[in-house]
Amino acid sequence: ATMPPLLSAIANAGRHGVLVKSAVVMERLGGVTRVALDKTGTLTEGAPRVAEVRVVGEGAAKGLGSAEVLALAAAAEHPSEHPLARAVVALAKERGLRLVAAEDFSSVPGRGVRAVVAGRVVQVGSPAALLGAGAAGGGAEVVVEEIEGLGRTAVVVLVDGDPVGVLGVEDRVRAGAGEAVAALGRLTGSAPVLLTGDNERAAAKLAGGVGITEVRAGLLPQDKVAAVREWEAAGEKVLVVGDGVNDAPALAAAHSGIAMGRAGSDLALETADAVVVRDELATVPAVVALSRRARRLVV
Ligand code: ADP
Ligand code: MG
Repeated sequence: ATMPPLLSAIANAGRHGVLVKSAVVMERLGGVTRVALDKTGTLTEGAPRVAEVRVVGEGAAKGLGSAEVLALAAAAEHPSEHPLARAVVALAKERGLRLVAAEDFSSVPGRGVRAVVAGRVVQVGSPAALLGAGAAGGGAEVVVEEIEGLGRTAVVVLVDGDPVGVLGVEDRVRAGAGEAVAALGRLTGSAPVLLTGDNERAAAKLAGGVGITEVRAGLLPQDKVAAVREWEAAGEKVLVVGDGVNDAPALAAAHSGIAMGRAGSDLALETADAVVVRDELATVPAVVALSRRARRLVV
């Protein structure tokens, strides 16, 4: 017997480096009318590097230099699987800093982490989460603006509630990201959109470089879900492409979800309908096209 079209499409997708979890999923992918892509780890390589460590506000007053700020941040980030956390830990190790074991670790997706390090409460995360209304910035906001102005992601470090440092993180755009965005636009007939938890400035810079015009930045995981629901309520069938724990709810809520597999979080891989194993964005439009072709053969 010849293989049914959807099964041979799954086999084909596998050859392209995409694991499609079922024939139902293979069929649905071709019906997508709009694509929403995550930024960090999806359109970017997800292997960010800390480019600068700045001591701010209370940092100097607490006797902390950039090495101490980095060491405290890395200790708090050590249990996290977020790409930014890995970047912070990598630089600390590169500089030969000794990491104290963190206690009482907790993380809030899309915001950051909190842990007790050597008796001090250390928080590491987004400026929006940690420099919110009321928190005395001590110059941190100005440094954040400088860093974001360079298209970098600013990561704020608080010790016992006071801002002590800001890290500037750089991430490279994936090779072929612009081509993948263009191909997805052609296939679905609508311009792909960017959904990101990162800041407006970094998001706009990246979007411009890959040909995306519609950007929603500063989103929490539930905001990504809300965006998907909004479009689907208007009759769209949305494909979410993401990698992180923060993308899992949107991957689950959308008509279809594809996770970037190599650096993706376990939760995203489990929740998504399909997983990009070969870590190339070009495989996403390829799989949508395969589904389209298979659907034409299924009658
Ligand atoms: P994206 O949607 O672009 O993949 P995320 O939702 O994962 O980004 O993260 C959004 C923002 O939350 C990050 O830009 C960062 O400021 C902050 N953040 C989340 N987790 C961490 C962490 N472990 N360490 C530092 N910052 C974090
Ligand atoms: Mg991400």
